[in-house]
Amino acid sequence: MDINTDIKYLKGVGSARAAEFNKLGVDTVDALLHFYPRNYEDWSKIVSIKDAPIDENCCIRAIVSHVPTKHLIKGGRTLYKVSVTDGKGMLNLTFFNNKYIPQMLKENEEYLFYGKVLYSRIGVKEMLSPMFIKAEQNEKIRPIYHATAKLSSRTIEKCVTEALKHTDEIVKDPLPEEMRKKYRLCTLKEALFSVHFPVDNADLEKGRRRLIFDELFYLQMGLIRLKDKNRETENRHILQRDYSGEFIRTLPFELTNAQKRSIAEAIGDMSGEKMMNRLLQGDVGSGKTAVAAALIYAVAKNKMQSALMAPTEVLAEQHLRTFEKMFKNTDIKVELLTGSTKAKEKREIKQRLKSGETDLVIGTHAIIQQDVEFNNIGFVVTDEQHRFGVNQRTVLRDKGESPHVLVMSATPIPRTLALIIYGDLDVSVLDEMPLNRKKTETYFVTGEYHERIYNFIKKHLDSGLQAFIVCPLVNEGESDLIPAKEYYEKLSTTVFRGYRLGLLHGQMKGSEKEKIMRSFAENEIQLLVSTVVIEVGIDVPNAALIVIENAERFGLSQLHQLRGRVGRGSEKSTCILVSDSQSENAKQRFDIMCKTTDGFKIADEDLKMRGPGDFFGSKQHGLPSLKIASLLTDNELLMLSRTAAAELLEDDFDMKKKEHIQIRHQVNRLFSQPSI
Ligand code: ADP
Ligand code: MG
Repeated sequence: MDINTDIKYLKGVGSARAAEFNKLGVDTVDALLHFYPRNYEDWSKIVSIKDAPIDENCCIRAIVSHVPTKHLIKGGRTLYKVSVTDGKGMLNLTFFNNKYIPQMLKENEEYLFYGKVLYSRIGVKEMLSPMFIKAEQNEKIRPIYHATAKLSSRTIEKCVTEALKHTDEIVKDPLPEEMRKKYRLCTLKEALFSVHFPVDNADLEKGRRRLIFDELFYLQMGLIRLKDKNRETENRHILQRDYSGEFIRTLPFELTNAQKRSIAEAIGDMSGEKMMNRLLQGDVGSGKTAVAAALIYAVAKNKMQSALMAPTEVLAEQHLRTFEKMFKNTDIKVELLTGSTKAKEKREIKQRLKSGETDLVIGTHAIIQQDVEFNNIGFVVTDEQHRFGVNQRTVLRDKGESPHVLVMSATPIPRTLALIIYGDLDVSVLDEMPLNRKKTETYFVTGEYHERIYNFIKKHLDSGLQAFIVCPLVNEGESDLIPAKEYYEKLSTTVFRGYRLGLLHGQMKGSEKEKIMRSFAENEIQLLVSTVVIEVGIDVPNAALIVIENAERFGLSQLHQLRGRVGRGSEKSTCILVSDSQSENAKQRFDIMCKTTDGFKIADEDLKMRGPGDFFGSKQHGLPSLKIASLLTDNELLMLSRTAAAELLEDDFDMKKKEHIQIRHQVNRLFSQPSI
């Protein structure tokens, strides 16, 4: 048996169970050892019936005071009722459809019962179908695993017990003893035993500490190396001269210091020895686009091309308008290339890109990545990075001739997370808003306020301003939600008759969306009823009011993104959250929205409320997901493992030393790139 042995060869598994294990992502015996419990049943901590917490799992030691009595209930089913006592209190137990209960529970004998204590309708404490064992067995802490319909946690537990017998063969501790000592870590083998079958809490903590450390350590080893690899890439597109100032003078506004600093940082990179790999992080409205434009201008003046990649066609189209406007007084040539571009036009655009006639191509990812040949591409900008993964960045870098890369992100990410997720990038932060920007006043109201909201909207429209109404759905679905389409029709024919309304939703064709967007941008549409398609990046400075219906349907970061659609001009702006939801969690979100407009604070709160899963899913970032470590709570181990990774790489960057070979395997496995 070794690290690659298929799970089906483990005693007691076989191919049917193996298939179930595969559903859980467990394919080898080793993977089973690293399939950590999601929780534990603590049978070691006994509480008295009197002190038992209500509706929480607990363990009670009690004597059966009355033999089980059988009751018939509807549908021919049976249930058994049993009374138990621990001397200080009485507890009723109910078991459904288990005819063995009378044999299993004997009068005057003592058992451990594990389950939730509830109050019955007549106010007596009871447990429904608790688990139980004889008291002298004296169980400790038992693992609970994620299970499937056909593979119970108990079965998994048995298989893990079996797998643990083979640890001497399978588990080779990758960390050298010296390192374990230095960071006070137990061996990997000990850790696996402790995490699956902890003797007590201290033992569990010891095991978790080691496994969490491992996870964070390998992750950071990989990322630091990636960063250095990027750093190593020679700059093949050196800017000979910085032309950005020339462009900045054509802008109708003064750049913020943060913008100036970011431009200087990027120009510095692009004029240096290594290619640029930089993240530009800034809250919605902080002016990332102007920074990108200044850099694109400088690159073009140095006779190189740029590509700007957006996550959606709507956004790409909007970028086109923005850049056309920004480059109005220059000779920079911009083109748009998306899935909806007609074949003939596409050919012509590609021709112009190949010949070098075009300075900047704006488009959706897929198109630019797969379809296009450049004459001399020197610079790639990716917008709204959080939707794309590390892998995509690598693809780009590997294609062509290592153009400079600027990744723009509007999702303010807490510092610790940024350190990890963007570990391979240098970072510029726009931590300053343009001066004319006013805080968007935010209110939370219930549905009863609709009439007042409509009047408020009218006041805006009458004074020449524009507004959004955002709904969660396009068509009829759940009854309590206001579907955008119907809502639009209703509003156009009743309250807002005589006003110019528009509808925008995700099911429209690209060209239709484009038309609506353009009309809104040009103030032909005054009030835009929309689904979340407006979420990212849409920029209409004359829009000063956004009303979000069924606001409980949106996450905190999403609400913040939506709110960012207004307050982009010099007018005072307002955001109204409408919801009848009773959910505490929703109310908490609204409360945070009303209190702060600081994207970083909001991201922090969002993370606290949702957990880091959403931020750190491998889908979003192309990074390995974490099984046991939490980026929120394991801060100390995060820092410790970072130090350890940096030290090791300092000493042996390629992990070639004998004692580091196992570590190299782990890192490579994690990143699935054979030769990082
Ligand atoms: P985001 O960071 O959300 O992409 P944008 O680049 O779209 O922000 O900028 C938002 C708006 O602010 C745009 O209308 C842009 O023209 C304007 N803007 C950018 N920088 C400044 C500045 N320094 N002063 C005033 N307005 C600015
Ligand atoms: Mg933007």
